[in-house]
Amino acid sequence: MSQEKTNTEREGEHMGDVKIGLECHAQLLTRSKLFCGCSAAYHYAEPNTHVCPTCLGLPGALPVVNKKAVEYGIKVALALNCEVQRRTLFYRKNYFYPDLPRGFQISQYDFPLAVNGYVRIESDGGERIIRIKRVHLEEDPGRLIYKGTIDVAKYCLVDYNRSGVPLVEIVTEPDLRSPKEARIFINKIRSILEYLGVFDGGLEGSLRVDANVSIAGGERIEIKNISSYKGLERALSFEITRQRGLLRRGIEIKQETRHYDEIRGVTISLRTKEHEEDYRYFPEPDLVLIEISESWVEALKKGLPELPDEKVRRFMQQYVITREHAVALTTDVHIADFYERVAAELGDARLCATWVADVLKGELNYRSMSMREALQRVPPENFVKILRFMKEGKITERSAVEVLREMLDAGGEPEVIIAKKELMRMKDEEIDGIIREVIAENTPAVEDYKSGKKEALNFLVGQVMKKTRGRMDPKRAYEALKAIIAAGA
Ligand code: ZN
Ligand code: MN
Repeated sequence: MSQEKTNTEREGEHMGDVKIGLECHAQLLTRSKLFCGCSAAYHYAEPNTHVCPTCLGLPGALPVVNKKAVEYGIKVALALNCEVQRRTLFYRKNYFYPDLPRGFQISQYDFPLAVNGYVRIESDGGERIIRIKRVHLEEDPGRLIYKGTIDVAKYCLVDYNRSGVPLVEIVTEPDLRSPKEARIFINKIRSILEYLGVFDGGLEGSLRVDANVSIAGGERIEIKNISSYKGLERALSFEITRQRGLLRRGIEIKQETRHYDEIRGVTISLRTKEHEEDYRYFPEPDLVLIEISESWVEALKKGLPELPDEKVRRFMQQYVITREHAVALTTDVHIADFYERVAAELGDARLCATWVADVLKGELNYRSMSMREALQRVPPENFVKILRFMKEGKITERSAVEVLREMLDAGGEPEVIIAKKELMRMKDEEIDGIIREVIAENTPAVEDYKSGKKEALNFLVGQVMKKTRGRMDPKRAYEALKAIIAAGA
């Protein structure tokens, strides 16, 4: 019994014996690829149309480093509080896979772009610091497309459009303590990179994560190829439960690499015992050492935008809102901008915080809609109109939500929707009439209430709300019912 309880607790938030480290690969939004002039905007292109001898790995083709990619990499490093190195070098990482036509990936090894940074996250126990071990640049391989799922496919297709797209790899120390913390961390990384304008988390496959997981008493397991934000938490939860099961049965956990199957939500063993030396890293002889001047780094530092942590502090001070609201409003830079415009126009920053952070964000999550998409249907001025109608008492809170939903689904002007759906708040005489109707139609409930059953009144309020279709506030209905019954209706 007590043993069972311990195990259940361990699956929860506090996982003191769990160590998780992440390697996050994020595609940088440069116009051309990392080592050639091909367009890096391949996401909606026909397969194998953004290719040239260099990114196809043809013999004799030589790479040239894209300066913009280095610049973006430095910005990322600075935003993650890293020390940018004065000298950085590309290496060859040798391995064979059909998506890698050269037989090696140009990556970094010794002398990475930056080291020793950190990121703050908001976890259950308050603020936590996650150390960043290194930040480096590397090229994305091509894309394999299996006919059917990977284990039953008879063959697969290769698209080299992605080959050579610049990736920034962010490697953490094993500081994360639970799958949930890993999810919070990855969302923070997405947020910071999007603030910098160097990354678009909405693009398919733009962020891929490898995770190292170990629990006390076992060796480190690497999970490869997690390509969705939700997948990360699921893959880690599955893996921790699997490892605990092994230890409980007395089976040793040996170091291995596992593949995450997104569809089935499980990890599968790929290979055991793979070490860094197997890759035969050596400096890329076709590229020169890159010297990064102090003045370049300083100029980029000066040009950094306000980042999420700073924005949280400013929002709390300037708008006098809770930390929880400030965090919710600043995760997505588009939501933060939207909030500021709405608050400036309406002048009631705290009301706007509730309506953007709680109501609007909730509606966006429910629809899996991004703020950028929502802006097409709900521009700030129309959002302000809804809140203004509500503040002036012309519509109820419930109606305001209804207008917002309609706008998110189909667009349109608030006043037109209010008229079409007849959402204008009811006049006092109208309310009186409806309350008298409800009382007349529900005499048993009225008698119950009179004889002391307080719950009966809630039932009557419900009946009033039904008849008015939310065009009056429940509180108002409650008070009016009480008054009219007391007056002996
Ligand atoms: Zn190319
Ligand atoms: Mn990598």
